[in-house]
Amino acid sequence: MSIQHAAELIRAGRLVAFPTETVYGLGANALDPAAVARIFAAKGRPRTSPLIVHVESAAMAREFASAWPDAAGTLAHRYWPGPLTLVLPKRAIIPDIVTAGLPTVGLRVPAHPLALELIRAAGVPIAAPSANRFTELSPTAAGHIPEELADYTLDGGPARVGIESTVLSLAAGPLLLRPGVIPVTEIEALIGPVEIAAAAGEGPHASPGMHERHYRPRTPLYLGAPPAEGRGLILELPADPREFASVLYDRLHTADAEGWDWIAMALPPDTPEWAGVRDRLRRAGSVGLPADKGER
Ligand code: AMP
Ligand code: MG
Repeated sequence: MSIQHAAELIRAGRLVAFPTETVYGLGANALDPAAVARIFAAKGRPRTSPLIVHVESAAMAREFASAWPDAAGTLAHRYWPGPLTLVLPKRAIIPDIVTAGLPTVGLRVPAHPLALELIRAAGVPIAAPSANRFTELSPTAAGHIPEELADYTLDGGPARVGIESTVLSLAAGPLLLRPGVIPVTEIEALIGPVEIAAAAGEGPHASPGMHERHYRPRTPLYLGAPPAEGRGLILELPADPREFASVLYDRLHTADAEGWDWIAMALPPDTPEWAGVRDRLRRAGSVGLPADKGER
């Protein structure tokens, strides 16, 4: 029954927090500008930051993209449902508020069964950023979601992937806007060379929403050497990049609630497999770090 209730709320223009395999989303009917406006208000998210539109299949994605290059077909076939967002030219039916006025739309088929059921039951595409307040840590469990953010929350257990999707623009030449758990080298093996957008905070942003301070715990996070003062926690995380991503936000949420003066952890290596995790750590950390060279 909960899916039906959630779907009715979506159709009525309300907000539903729902599980995906990356992080929990705060969803609204992507075709309803007033409903989408509620997402920005609830999160305190600037209207310059576009939202990802969640669909149940590649066929449904094509209803909202005005172009579908071969690379989109190849990548959708290989990765959907899964943690890859494709940015494509949008059709007029997608309201401007969803895309921050851009002529492109970010589309993704999430892999969580409850997310797919919700989209199917609602019968509309669901625009959803992470279900957290702007700049705070993303939720990877229903218990991480701030109360009163959503009208209703679907609990689908812990998010398996644990960090936000890889965002790849195919609006012009392939351009990686945000790294995730899929290594860019793997994408290149399928569609050829991919340009990598400059990291946020270093010149103009390649897309809105690439805010430098994002994904932040409340406790200062040190990457590398911990400070000499205060009571801190040194986090030890798995040596495998996917396992690391899977537990990262949950470990930070827990550490944040424990009231330490600081949290410290080692920065993983600068390789394509770790690019998604390093991107989130860089934005979460209080110690400035050089940009990844993105060598592949
Ligand atoms: P979030 O919802 O916080 O996971 O962020 C969504 C990410 O997707 C941000 O990095 C956005 O910049 C990116 N994104 C979504 N839609 C578009 C778009 N139309 N053009 C460029 N980037 C987009
Ligand atoms: Mg977010």
